[in-house]
Amino acid sequence: MKPWILGLTGGIGSGKSAAAEHFSTLGIHMVDADHAARWVVEPGRPALAKIVDRFGEGVLLPDGQLNRGALRERIFQSEDERRWLERLLHPLIGEEIVANLARAESPYAILVSPLLVESGQHRLTQRVLVVDTPEHLQLERTMRRDSVSEGQVRAILKAQAAREDRIKHAHDVLLNDGDLEHLHQQVERLHQFYLGLRGGQP
Ligand code: ADP
Repeated sequence: MKPWILGLTGGIGSGKSAAAEHFSTLGIHMVDADHAARWVVEPGRPALAKIVDRFGEGVLLPDGQLNRGALRERIFQSEDERRWLERLLHPLIGEEIVANLARAESPYAILVSPLLVESGQHRLTQRVLVVDTPEHLQLERTMRRDSVSEGQVRAILKAQAAREDRIKHAHDVLLNDGDLEHLHQQVERLHQFYLGLRGGQP
């Protein structure tokens, strides 16, 4: 039977990747939307050529890779340009995700995405798991992981969906307010539950 798809989301530093990695060690196929977003603009892919046509060589690094910072600045200045870029990339990212999910051979597969609901990617899934973490822990863990300031993390938090809005779309919520061992135990419990579902439904 075709694997059903679990969407896994949560705010920055909530522990999505840590949870996803543990599902992965349990043998579950995992696709990361952030990785898909990077693959579609790799050198040689058609999207990158279109971006260069539009914004010029200034959005490339000397080695031909996309200069994300430069591109971010260009779209930051113009709403139209941001929309143009989204219209180009969103369908390509979606295709990349679908193709990768189709390779799954586990009983279910996971799509990890920080913007699962905001981007509409939850429509590719049958069930949504939200990793929910008190804001002070999100801040603390992200600052430690990325060596960034509290202000920088707060700005990202503000741009993402609010905790309550995200939870509204959840079928399951994993509260990641303990240590990593506790996170892994919860993942294992959910995994046992998911193995008993058909098409993501009880
Ligand atoms: P996200 O992918 O949601 O941004 P991560 O999974 O990268 O978040 O977690 C953020 C940081 O916090 C990582 O360095 C991770 O190892 C750490 N972390 C996640 N959950 C816990 C936990 N329960 N206890 C301690 N550290 C954690």
